Order: sequence, then structure tokens, then C-alpha cells
Amino acid sequence: MSKPITASILYNLVQCPHRVSMDLFGDPALRDPINPFVQLLWEKGNAFEQEVIKGLDLPFTNLHTYYGDEKERFTMEAMERGDNLIYSGRISADGFVGEPDILRRCDDGYIAGDIKSGAGEEGGSEDIDGKPKKHYAVQLALYTDILERLRLSGGRTPFVWDVHGKEVEYILDAPQGSRNPASLWDVYQSALETARQLVAHAKDTLPALSSTCKLCHWYTACTKRLEKLDDLTLIPELGRVRRDNMLMHVDSVRDLAQANLKALINGKKTIIPRIGADMLIKFQERARLQKQPGARPYLKEPITLPSADFELFFDIETDPMRDICYLHGFVERHGGDTGTERYIAFLAEDPTSEEEERAFVEAWKYVQDSQPCAIYYYSHYERTIWRKLQKKYSAVATEEEIEAMFDPATAVDLYSHVVRSKTEWPTRDYSIKTLASYLGFKWRDSNPSGAASIEWYHRWVESGDTEIRQRILNYNEDDCVAMRVLLDGIKGLSQR
Ligand code: SF4
Repeated sequence: MSKPITASILYNLVQCPHRVSMDLFGDPALRDPINPFVQLLWEKGNAFEQEVIKGLDLPFTNLHTYYGDEKERFTMEAMERGDNLIYSGRISADGFVGEPDILRRCDDGYIAGDIKSGAGEEGGSEDIDGKPKKHYAVQLALYTDILERLRLSGGRTPFVWDVHGKEVEYILDAPQGSRNPASLWDVYQSALETARQLVAHAKDTLPALSSTCKLCHWYTACTKRLEKLDDLTLIPELGRVRRDNMLMHVDSVRDLAQANLKALINGKKTIIPRIGADMLIKFQERARLQKQPGARPYLKEPITLPSADFELFFDIETDPMRDICYLHGFVERHGGDTGTERYIAFLAEDPTSEEEERAFVEAWKYVQDSQPCAIYYYSHYERTIWRKLQKKYSAVATEEEIEAMFDPATAVDLYSHVVRSKTEWPTRDYSIKTLASYLGFKWRDSNPSGAASIEWYHRWVESGDTEIRQRILNYNEDDCVAMRVLLDGIKGLSQR
């Protein structure tokens, strides 16, 4: 008999179908240890759920201490009694099992909800509504489906209680947008179909290199397999969907590097769905760079960088679980002379809004005192967070002042405006870690990553251990220096 389909299977499937196959049928001996950041996310999620439940000022039925069949029996009894709010229940029907955090009675039955220690939507801001998260939606849809099968559903409008204290309703039957008429219920049905095949072991999956892989416990096993397959997702920005569409025509990096594209290209289009001619040519060039021994990175077109004697390399660290920007780090350099390099950091010494504001005030003053200068940062994240901080602490700086600081004439997003658009590299991705390492830079830490820094910050806040504090600062300093190494490396590239 197949294993039941659960909410966590659907959650993982939306991120990576291969993860579901590996979790169900992979060799457990090949699993990596759980990443400490993933462990922290899990602990913070549980702690947040407990905090929300403790703060409830409504009577509720608490089934948190029960498991399995007993939990399910008590849940059904509570719904038959008509209890208004059930916490941590379990429901099942037709091979589906769900454990919604909340079951809330309404006029026609029950509506399910989950407590999430993240934002209930993605991509929103204070002024613009976000979009529902698909990995939340498929979980909520599964609970709703089970309630419908039990004839206990109060409608297809489940909800999330999110980290901001908001209840976010997921309207499962509504179209996702004017250009996308498919509803979240359609997304759920499609995920369910794939999940059925995976659980029955009736469908093969392939790994695909993506940003989610680094935190996954199959990372080592999948990377080895991708290398053995010479998989197309080893090409930067190619991704799973394009790889799957290309497989019929080219099935490896070497294959693509050697392919005669004339057979695939028709004007501006190709015979491969969702891949235009320019894109295919770009991916072939990347494949060739990877396969050509001694291939060097190059400029695709001339670049113009600010001419400034004083340069700042700027990198921030944030903790999304606490919703705090805890560090603004700068490496400054005079006259292009690395001997003048100095690191300046503004750290929130505890995770409070007072400390976040103090660090922002001091970093802002430092930037003002440093003018005129050129500022380099990597990705739009720094600008996004500084805009957010300006809105939160509007007495520190005006909106116009923050916009002026990020004026592209003097502030350069090296990732978006130089690396991605104007260069090519013989690497698998364009992260600052990959590119600066390619140029010979070494981080002092053996495990440098933004996720690790968040985990260290959490441990430092809990323990006050000054060694951890220093580790956070060293990592941020190295990220800033890596940007300088990258800038100098780019300046030395020749154009093709
Ligand atoms: S490492 Fe990547 S490809 Fe492999 S299971 Fe995890 S997310 Fe999927």
C-alpha cells in the first residue's frame, strides 16, 4: 500500500519533486546532517506556534499532546461536538493525512489554518499586497480537500496566522492573477497528481541545482549525481523547467556545448518550449565556457564604473525570523590601494528595534561622512532593506536621501548591473562566494553563508559569546572584501 500523502510532501514537492522521491526512497546513509540553520528555523517555528497559542484569548480544544490515531479520534469527536477552535488536530481521508495547526468552526463546517513563523504572503510591501505562497497554499488545500471528503468543510478559504500577527486568507478558487487564470486549487490538483505518482514510485525524478539545494540534506548526494550526469542545471540560471524542456534535444552540458543550434532555432524562437533563440545561444556559450579547458571569464560589453577615489564595499546581514537588520558592514578603500583597506561595522548588539535603529543611524551617518564616494553592493537586497529601514525609522533619513545614496551614478549593484548583464564566467552560479573563490579569495570561516550568519547571530544573542560575535563580523568583512576582489577582477576582464 502506498504511503499517505501529507502536507509536508506537498510543501517539499513545490520546492523540489526530487526531494520528495529521495525522502521516500533515497538511501538514508547518503543524507547530509541537518543544516543548523534548518534546525533553527524548525525550533523558531515551534516556539512561535507556542507563543501564538499562549496568547489566544479564545477557548480552544488543545490536542497538542496526542499523536497518530488517538489525535485523529479526538479531532473527529471535537468536530462532531462542534468545538469552535481545535488546535493541533489530525484529519485523514482517501489516503490523505493532514495535521492543520487550527480547525475553526464556521456556519457550514470547519476551515483549516496554519501558524507560520514567516510572512503569510510573498513579494508584498507596506503599500502593495503580496501573493499567496504556493508551498503554503498546497498544504492548506490538502486540509480543505480532506475536510470536503469528510463533508465537514466550511469552504475553500483556509488561512495563515503569520509572523506579523496577521490572518492571511487563501482564496483557493480565485484566479491567481489577470494573466494567470489558474487558481491555487488547480495548483494543488497538479501537485497532488505528481505526489500520487511519486508516492506510488511510478515516476522518476532528477535532481536540479537551485538555490534551495544548499540547505537540503541531499545536497552532497545530488551534487555528485548532477556532476556524473553532467546535468544541464549546472549551467547558471538554466534551472529545472528549462532543463526538462531541453532534455529531448540535448541532455548534458557537453552535449549542449557541441550541439548544432541551427537545427533547434527558428528565427527568434526555438523548437524548445519557453526558450528563445538568444537564450539558447547564451546557454550554449555558458556550456562551452564550462567545458573548455582554461576558459576565462570575459566582458560581453564595455562597463562604466563610477570614478571615485574613495570606495565603499557594503554588505548587510538580516534575520528574517526576527525581522531585523542586525549588521551593516563596509570595507573602505582609498585610491584603489588595498593597503588602505579598513572594515567598519554597525552591529545591533541585541535584537531590539532600538538597537536596529541605532545601527542604522550610525551606518547612515558613516555613509554621509564618506561622501563623495562610490558604493558597491551585491544584489538589490541592500537597497530594499535600507528603503524598508527608512520607512520604519523615518526620522533618520528621508526617502529622497536614501534614493540619492543608491543613485546608479555612484552606487553599483555589482550582481544585477555588471555580473549578470555584462559578463560571462566558467562557473555554475554567480554568487559572490563562487565568483570571488574563482578569483582566488578565501573566506576565513570554513562554513561561510548568510544562513550560517543568522544562526550565529541567534546563538550570540542567546549566549553572549564574544567569539560568535567576532565570527559574525569576520564573515561580513570577508563578504565586503570579496566584493572588492570581484570588482578588481571585473576591471581586469577583456571584452569579447
Ligand atoms: S539537493 Fe536540490 S535537487 Fe537534491 S533533493 Fe535537495 S533540493 Fe532537490
